[in-house]
Amino acid sequence: MAEDQRTGKYSGRVITRFPPEPNGYLHYGHAKSICLNFGLANEFGGACHLRYDDTNPAKEDVEYEDSIADSVRWLGFDWGPHRYHASDYYEQLYRFAEWFVEQGLAYVDSQSAAEVRASRGTLTEPGRPSPYRERSIAENLDLLRRMRAGEFPDGAHVLRLKIDMASPNLNLRDPAIYRIRHESHHRTGSAWCIYPLYDYTHCISDALERITHSICTLEFQDHRPLYDWVIEKLAEGGLLERPLPQQYEFARLNLTCVVLSKRRLIELVTQGYVDGWDDPRMPTLVGARRRGFTPGGFRLFAERIGVSKSDSWIDMSVLEDCMRDDLNVSAERRIAVLDPVRLVIDNYPEGAGEECHAPNHPQRPELGRRALPFGRELWIERDDFQENPPKGYFRLSPGAEARLRYAYIVKCVGADKDAQGNVTTVHCTYDPDTRTGTPGADARKVKGNLHWLSVGSAREAEVRLYDRLFAVPFPGARAPRGASGESAAPIDAPPGTAGHVFVAGDDVDAAEAIERNYLDDLNPDSKRVITAYIEPALADVTPESSFQFERHGYFVADRYDHGPGRPVFNRTVTLRDSWARPAGKNA
Ligand code: ATP
Ligand code: MG
Repeated sequence: MAEDQRTGKYSGRVITRFPPEPNGYLHYGHAKSICLNFGLANEFGGACHLRYDDTNPAKEDVEYEDSIADSVRWLGFDWGPHRYHASDYYEQLYRFAEWFVEQGLAYVDSQSAAEVRASRGTLTEPGRPSPYRERSIAENLDLLRRMRAGEFPDGAHVLRLKIDMASPNLNLRDPAIYRIRHESHHRTGSAWCIYPLYDYTHCISDALERITHSICTLEFQDHRPLYDWVIEKLAEGGLLERPLPQQYEFARLNLTCVVLSKRRLIELVTQGYVDGWDDPRMPTLVGARRRGFTPGGFRLFAERIGVSKSDSWIDMSVLEDCMRDDLNVSAERRIAVLDPVRLVIDNYPEGAGEECHAPNHPQRPELGRRALPFGRELWIERDDFQENPPKGYFRLSPGAEARLRYAYIVKCVGADKDAQGNVTTVHCTYDPDTRTGTPGADARKVKGNLHWLSVGSAREAEVRLYDRLFAVPFPGARAPRGASGESAAPIDAPPGTAGHVFVAGDDVDAAEAIERNYLDDLNPDSKRVITAYIEPALADVTPESSFQFERHGYFVADRYDHGPGRPVFNRTVTLRDSWARPAGKNA
């Protein structure tokens, strides 16, 4: 792009496009493509078009279109007036098709789909010409018009470009550009019964919109000669304006611990392994939003992973870290006790109470502070007390001291237990001279620093503890010989190279290589619902507000279920990566 700006190839214009097919919800991989296309357009002062690639009437729907637009906007990008549909160009695409026929560059093939496939040849053998390849222009034109008029059933004919059946590039062996489909389309209704195919539609749509840089994923590299052939011919015929768009390819996002293929995502939803497309564990953008992942986190992720021409795998922890880094700056701190046990301060006057103050953000004093009611009876985390602590345990145990953050230093004097031996109440005494923020409060040093809520003020909340959907990096990958269960795929071995282990997210051709069912790798602990205590200020926040629950992680008020009188929070990500393995063990 910089080079094209320098040479003036496009007179300074940079126009990219994001071309989703409206047949499903966008996923994390699309976020990479969106950030790339919109990001580059922004960087070069250009524009990025949102174009629905709606050439397959059977699978597409407006419900998907709306969701796609929402997700792109949510990520922070704006297509302005440039929202288009491939179906906007159906008439033009058809006129161009007639032109190709008139030029002797396209013909109607009446072979069956199986015959077309069988005569296509292989990488080492040329294809065989169709017996219909030499039909006259007049006959082809007549047949094409009758195809359009609906005279033939599905599959009776296809329109093919007449390029080169012996080309080493299979995409140039007379590719089909129109097929018969008696099916109504969500935008054009029953106006058409022939539909243009992707390779033909995409390059022409790009050219009609005067796209300059058409950026797509690597699997389209071998289609580039066809892309160029079609628009070059049309430009030679004076039907398209120059300069023509140029296609560039980049490596798609492959991410560990999820699957990104539409086929698999549909299966997860329809078979009920998750609670719908926007389940916070789903790698969809609607799921990400509900989980509390942030647009800023995705943009940071896109920047960190960069763009390259070779396939590689990105570890899930990279995405999670980006969310942590973004939320660390933006999210205010709050207190929640997820696994509560009662703590009684024996020497604190009964019925008394006071307010302690906690900063809303340790690095951003401008965000202020809030009051936390303190009293004789508190909730603390169950694992902040241990009767027989291991060495190096700095929290509460009989005789040990710790600070209740924003309040006092307490000394543990014992605990009550029920008949089963479970701790029901931890007893402490407090030192009134140690209140945080008062002179001399820090005179005595203690290592433990615990969060708490007063029993009288804490509110109950439903908290959904989400974790990774898959428990292994490469769901469904075949295990190496001799290894038991655990996937040993090296993170950086791209498909097609030695050492690559095919996974469920790979392209269809790889499906045969899957030896285990990816569903067997689902993480059984990916969702746990608990009732927790939260500080009063959290009960009334608006849906989708994110907070750091101190010492736990980042949580978001659920987009749909959280409301007045019914606080519901989803765990976005823990504070630290609990999945990190010792170096080398993964490989
Ligand atoms: P399919 O083609 O099977 O319907 P798709 O995931 O390719 O699924 P599209 O709607 O065609 O979905 O994708 C829209 C754009 O997003 C395309 O330009 C595609 O290259 C890009 N894209 C899709 N998956 C990824 C990915 N994993 N990483 C980066 N870009 C992707
Ligand atoms: Mg696609």
